Amino acid sequence: TTFADLNLCPELMHTLEELGYKTPTPIQAQAIPKVLEGRDLIAEAQTGTGKTAAFTLPMIQRLSRTPVEGEYHHIRGLVLVPTRELAVQVGDNGLAYGQLLGMRVISIFGGVRFDNQIRKMKRGADILVATPGRLLDMLKQKKLSLAQLEMLVLDEADRMLDLGFINDIRQLLGYMPEQKQTLLFSATLNGSVEALAEALLQQPERIQV
Ligand code: AMP
Repeated sequence: TTFADLNLCPELMHTLEELGYKTPTPIQAQAIPKVLEGRDLIAEAQTGTGKTAAFTLPMIQRLSRTPVEGEYHHIRGLVLVPTRELAVQVGDNGLAYGQLLGMRVISIFGGVRFDNQIRKMKRGADILVATPGRLLDMLKQKKLSLAQLEMLVLDEADRMLDLGFINDIRQLLGYMPEQKQTLLFSATLNGSVEALAEALLQQPERIQV
């Protein structure tokens, strides 16, 4: 499989070339076409497999096809992550991949001043990368809206559950529309991850690498 087989748009193909990515990793080869088709997905994938690009690239492409003007406080793509480090890393990847398409990507996480993160949000975002607790605080304070969310990604779902984020995640779901595309990535698919997937995903494509 080559990137040219995956139905990625010219801007993303150009970006991948600039970044020196020659061939897709197995998770990318399997996930990208399915996500572009609009399918829900559950993927068992460890760090280092290229999983971040596997969800970020098709997410950017889908959101860039239907640009929305203004309405900056409405988030269209949300990536939930367990830690601040991962929020920064996924956000940086999203910015790099989405730059040519003008994607606005912001990460927010706990442990830093609330007002600084609110200021970042004021500049607007297409894609938000967030830890569950901090995002919930912002929603409760009406600093942003998930009412028009189109795509939701849970990254490292097993770690989020291990860290006790299940109640936060359940509350967050209440702020999102029922109708959306959902992708779940996890290093392990244990019983509690499967239960979360069961509650969240509709006829998901299943990928293991
Ligand atoms: P991840 O598993 O998402 O943390 O990605 C691991 C690393 O591999 C990151 O530094 C990516 O920039 C890099 N990477 C992801 N996909 C590819 C690819 N197809 N070719 C080369 N490097 C890649």
